[in-house]
Amino acid sequence: MTETTPPIATPEHTVEGFVRQYLRELTYTQGTTLERASVDDKYLALARTARAYLMSRWNRTVTQQYRQPVRGVAYLSAEYLLGRQLDNALIASGLEDIAQEALASLGLSLDELRAAEVEPGLGNGGLGRLAACFIDSLATMNIPAIGYGIRYEYGIFRQTFVDGRQVEEPDSWLDHGSPWEIARPEQEVEIAFGGHTEKTTVNGVERTTWTPGWSVLAIPYNYMVPGYLNGRVNTLRLWSARATRAFDLKIFNYGDYAAAVRAQTFAENITKVLYPEDSTPQGKELRLQQQYFFVAASLHDYIERLLGEGFDLRRLPERITFQLNDTHPVIAIPELMRILVDLKGLAWDEAWEITRKCFAYTCHTLLPEALEVWPVELMSRLLPRHMEIIYRINDEFLAQVRERYGDDEMLVRRMSIIAEHPERAVRMAFLASVGTSKINGVAELHSQLLREKVLTDFADLWPEKFTNVTNGVTPRRFVRLSNPGLSALITEAIGDGWATDLERLRELEPLADDAAFRAKFREVKQANKHRLVDLLARRDGIVIDPDTMLDVMVKRLHEYKRQMLKVLHVVSTYDKLRTGELDPASAVHRTVVFGAKAAPGYKMAKEIIALINHVGARVNADPVVSQALRVAFPANYNVTVAETLIPAADLSEQISLAGKEASGTGNMKFALNGALTVGTDDGANVEIRQLVGDDHFFLFGLTEPEASAIQEAGYRPSAHYEQNPSLRHALDLIASGEFSGGDRSVFEPIVSNLLYEDRFMVLADYQSYMDAQERVDAAYRDQDAWSRSAVLNVARSGFFSSDRSMRDYLDRIWHVDPMPIEG
Ligand SMILES: *Cc1c(COP(=O)(O)O)cnc(C)c1O
Repeated sequence: MTETTPPIATPEHTVEGFVRQYLRELTYTQGTTLERASVDDKYLALARTARAYLMSRWNRTVTQQYRQPVRGVAYLSAEYLLGRQLDNALIASGLEDIAQEALASLGLSLDELRAAEVEPGLGNGGLGRLAACFIDSLATMNIPAIGYGIRYEYGIFRQTFVDGRQVEEPDSWLDHGSPWEIARPEQEVEIAFGGHTEKTTVNGVERTTWTPGWSVLAIPYNYMVPGYLNGRVNTLRLWSARATRAFDLKIFNYGDYAAAVRAQTFAENITKVLYPEDSTPQGKELRLQQQYFFVAASLHDYIERLLGEGFDLRRLPERITFQLNDTHPVIAIPELMRILVDLKGLAWDEAWEITRKCFAYTCHTLLPEALEVWPVELMSRLLPRHMEIIYRINDEFLAQVRERYGDDEMLVRRMSIIAEHPERAVRMAFLASVGTSKINGVAELHSQLLREKVLTDFADLWPEKFTNVTNGVTPRRFVRLSNPGLSALITEAIGDGWATDLERLRELEPLADDAAFRAKFREVKQANKHRLVDLLARRDGIVIDPDTMLDVMVKRLHEYKRQMLKVLHVVSTYDKLRTGELDPASAVHRTVVFGAKAAPGYKMAKEIIALINHVGARVNADPVVSQALRVAFPANYNVTVAETLIPAADLSEQISLAGKEASGTGNMKFALNGALTVGTDDGANVEIRQLVGDDHFFLFGLTEPEASAIQEAGYRPSAHYEQNPSLRHALDLIASGEFSGGDRSVFEPIVSNLLYEDRFMVLADYQSYMDAQERVDAAYRDQDAWSRSAVLNVARSGFFSSDRSMRDYLDRIWHVDPMPIEG
């Protein structure tokens, strides 16, 4: 493709240029005037101004990539938890100061306008945020990459509390439209479902044709993914479902308006909602529809573009790796087989060779119940041709297993992609293991356990397929944008460049011993606490004291993450303060902040939320206790809240049962912002502790082998209750109705679950956790030593940049070269 349009000048990189563009957007796009404009108008004009600065870079990126076909990567993810776009667009194009000044000259405040942006909540938690960090890094590292996903009309639900209980409200983030997306309806793709298949023989060759029962249109919406100050803007392409015109018109013409609308609603339901599910899959037909919908549209999109170049699909692996973010996009494997064999006429074996080489799979869990399976009945009904292909992949794979290991039927049954019990179902993680060339876990410990416990048989068969890539987070959003105070301090100390070369933070190490630097560091932390005080007061009406230790546990609510352990610490401290065992005047004063959404169908998680709120209310209302301990639980934790909360934190709670958290990325964000971690030897905590050093990390709890050994020998949680008076007091207090207005039944399910089941060994780790918290208190009393540790946490966490994760993927899996954008 050659450039045919004359280059349109990017608005000038000056305050005047910015003002001119802003007024143009306000006038011509928003159709209003400065005097009349609502806050929304003003925000939208600002968003479009920022967008205007990026637009020519975006076009340049696309044009240069078309002109110079190179190897690329396509990231397939059902979730992208992007966070707000405006600030990121401004820092990526070096416009923050200009925008601030330009708006001020018009009597407007950047802070006020940025607050008007609704964050697109297109993800549940860590997995979706990881995808967002990765595409940011790919753009910043000049990698030709595209992200593919789903444009959910309703993102993750908005959480509110009623009587302390979670209530879910729809997140209609698109109500006012999004200035960050560009629809490309002319590039629609028709996606088929249902129907039946037929075999025919043409010239002695057997062919299968699929006659679908119904179809929907996939409409792409493009989002800019700007690299940081490098002139590249990559694309995130999210698909939205629309009814095909044919089917509703026909019904409509027969005069049945209601049926026509029903049919349309049915089709468009596919991209209506993000399943608010964390790691327990609900067997939802719509979910499988969503997965196939976005994956089929994405493969079609990429392959058609290559065919447009006259590309020979036999060489597909030379041009692309499709990275499968968890099992959600794994249906892409049989889809590519269908394209190559049924539509392009390639021989099965050749197609299989190509397919395996084109895909790589990232596993994100260790919980067996989180491994997706689809009933064969459902798969056959919704995607009959894909089911046949999966059967054949499985037959050939199992033949290979028999050839290698002999007729070990137990092993064959264990490794089969099709499970027989409790119902016939496709194991998507197994399909991914067979149909890809690389499989990675997301932290060292996780990758090891994946090989040893989850995908053991596959790791024995193909050891070379398995690798590790420890997760990371983007320093642009999680330091540069969210912690401007620390960013300025770092730049003052070591110069700029660290935001794209985070290992340079090591240069801060000597400054940990510099009292003046530590004082400045504490000033930054204090200012960040004040920012948080303002946010919580404004957003939630919560009052917190910035002169206390800020002890933060924010993440999805799940029993394995053990918010319950933190609650027991709070209850126990409450008890000690109330009874005088601890003197509120001399105790270390803490504010414990929780943030967590629970999947709406996850009962126990919702009970724990209610308990946190009720304990919090009791603690905060007690005149004695509240002098030393307060609890804050702002509702609706999301990326925007994380950006203010994390830079203010002193203590990061990463307390999952060892062997359950795959990696965690929240843990990395905290360490990078100078919080100290109290944590178990789990996920990436292991690597954080190794890097920052034992003296600057509060380790507690069972190790994974210890926990497994206890479980195997028969774990009896009530023994801990019987033997530990402090634990007994805390649990008895909850059971007594102390936090539920005297009603003993309210939290009984939580207490009896802990006493008689306690799958995640909260009681087993209780004492060790309490001891660790005493060490935290003791350490916090020496503010100079504490801030030395905090500075060392920052200095030694550069490894956790998602740029490093991308480098690992590039070296170990993708082998794609950077392609800087010229001009
Ligand atoms: C980073 C992040 C997460 C992941 O947190 P973990 O502690 O790793 O589970 C979840 N939600 C949001 C909004 C985040 O920014």
